[in-house]
Amino acid sequence: MSHQSKERTLIILKPDALQRSLMGEIIQRYERIGLKLVGMKLVVPSAEHVEQHYTLDPEWRRITGEKRVKAAKAKGEVLKTEDPYEITAVILDNLKKYMTSGPVVCMVWQGAHVVEIVRKLTGGTEPRSTDVGTIRGDYVLDSYMMADADSRAIRNLVHASGSPEEAEKEIMHWFDQNELVDYRLIGEQILYDVNLDGILE
Ligand code: ADP
Ligand code: MG
Repeated sequence: MSHQSKERTLIILKPDALQRSLMGEIIQRYERIGLKLVGMKLVVPSAEHVEQHYTLDPEWRRITGEKRVKAAKAKGEVLKTEDPYEITAVILDNLKKYMTSGPVVCMVWQGAHVVEIVRKLTGGTEPRSTDVGTIRGDYVLDSYMMADADSRAIRNLVHASGSPEEAEKEIMHWFDQNELVDYRLIGEQILYDVNLDGILE
């Protein structure tokens, strides 16, 4: 197995993050915890590219539909359907409109436990109910209720891969190999080197 510090994840700053001038604030959170940026670009994705992205994981439609049903039950809401595939057919359509509405910033970040740590910093899908201190909890206030009422996707600023396997597939979907840079970040010595020597003169 390669060293833990080589794990990678895909982060996308969604159109609302750019429109609200939050790029710097958001990137700072991933940067200051000690992660390394190894790829970055500004793109306006096509609807087809977005659909492919969300269906790279064949289980995404079931899981995301079930998550919506669970959130509805917790709030006593009644949904038009509880079929996860019917629910996600609508979500996918709305996601395509959302994600193609303007430029997004795609990034690959690297570091130990990066997938888990980035999800923790990013917060849960629904800004309304996710924790204070997370990006989605601190910078935006959208809810399932508002998204449903207006037939649109939840605006939650960021996409972050859900598992290391999903991350590798997503990275290949958005980046060419030659767009990713292998380099040394001086701060990594303090995070990962076995001995902290060479500090004192
Ligand atoms: P996450 O981005 O937290 O991993 P999912 O993978 O379940 O969440 O869904 C992808 C994106 O689709 C979400 O970030 C959100 O923008 C949108 N979305 C998910 N579920 C819903 C829903 N029930 N209603 C509206 N939009 C949704
Ligand atoms: Mg997801």
